[in-house]
Amino acid sequence: MTLQKRIRPGANEADRLVSGTIIDRTFKTCTSCRVVKCLVEFAVDRSKPTGFRPVCALCRADYDLERRRAEPHHAWEADYRRRCRARSLLPVVRSFTRDELVEVHGDHCVDCGGPWDQLDHRIPVAAGGTHDLDNCRPICQPCNSRKLFESDRPRIAKFRAGQVCPRAVTS
Ligand SMILES: [Zn+2]
Ligand SMILES: [Zn+2]
Repeated sequence: MTLQKRIRPGANEADRLVSGTIIDRTFKTCTSCRVVKCLVEFAVDRSKPTGFRPVCALCRADYDLERRRAEPHHAWEADYRRRCRARSLLPVVRSFTRDELVEVHGDHCVDCGGPWDQLDHRIPVAAGGTHDLDNCRPICQPCNSRKLFESDRPRIAKFRAGQVCPRAVTS
């Protein structure tokens, strides 16, 4: 089957053969890798005229990974919001980038001074901590785990024991 070769590259390539004959919507060309793929390899996106994302799932995953690496703050923020939601806390976010974090706190673990790979919330999220440059700091995994046991847990316990926090939303 030489279907791939007969499809004209361009806007609605998936729908037409070079002859102009409409074929059924079974295939689509990824706008990133330019490979003609089965529609099941594209995520549904109703805002698009075709009903699918223009890039295939594989390219999209690559893009997401790249973006997470280059701009980790999107994932940090989403993670913070998720954790607030899980605890019925109202998220308080003042967005910042990785560069801004490093500028304020340095490009090293706030605790041991070594390389860092995690984001620490000084006042833990579960104790009503906010997501901003005052409360967020770079930290390494071992220091973060230690902090969790030594200071976060007691702090969270106190918070849950009824210390009033205007941000706490109880259902
Ligand atoms: Zn692709
Ligand atoms: Zn450390």
